[in-house]
Amino acid sequence: TKFEELGLTPSLLNAITDLGFEAPSEVQEKAIPILLESETDLVALAQTGTGKTAAFGFPLIQKIDSASRTTQGLILSPTRELCLQITNELVAYSKYEKGLNVVAIYGGASITDQARQVKRGAQIVVATPGRMKDMISRGLVDISKIDYCVLDEADEMLNMGFFEDIKDILSNTPKEKSTWLFSATMPREVSVIAKKFMNSPQEITV
Ligand code: AMP
Repeated sequence: TKFEELGLTPSLLNAITDLGFEAPSEVQEKAIPILLESETDLVALAQTGTGKTAAFGFPLIQKIDSASRTTQGLILSPTRELCLQITNELVAYSKYEKGLNVVAIYGGASITDQARQVKRGAQIVVATPGRMKDMISRGLVDISKIDYCVLDEADEMLNMGFFEDIKDILSNTPKEKSTWLFSATMPREVSVIAKKFMNSPQEITV
């Protein structure tokens, strides 16, 4: 399969060419058509290093309305490092999407700076759960109108004790949205989150 066959827009294909990606990885080949074609929930069992960031990042970027400044997509990830890595990847993938802003929200850095970036208009927010919860409770970020929620490395987030924070954050999102959960393993707590917050998700394994 080629990237051209997955239904991606020319601006994404041009960014992919610039990055030197030659062909989609397995998780990209499986997830991208599903996520582009329907507003389904998705559970994807995939390890890190499989290209999962692009598997959810390309469809997310394609579905976001860059002309609106509303926060439409939220990605939760376990650590500051991963949060920054995802943000950097999404910035590279969206280099030809005019007006699309991706903002990273994580602990251990200035909350005022992050709030200022959100206020300028962040269609996509990439966050760690603790800082995200803090920003919500202080009214510094509004996720009440998101269309897409990605839970990345869900098993790691739960291992790190973010179960309550995740439940709390998800309770601030609209019921009508698509949730895409990526995890390397499927322990009970991950299935609990999937059962509680997702609607008959499609499943892929790589
Ligand atoms: P990830 O599993 O999302 O952390 O991605 C692992 C690395 O693979 C990242 O550095 C990506 O930039 C890179 N990558 C993702 N998709 C592809 C692809 N289709 N071809 C080549 N490299 C890729």
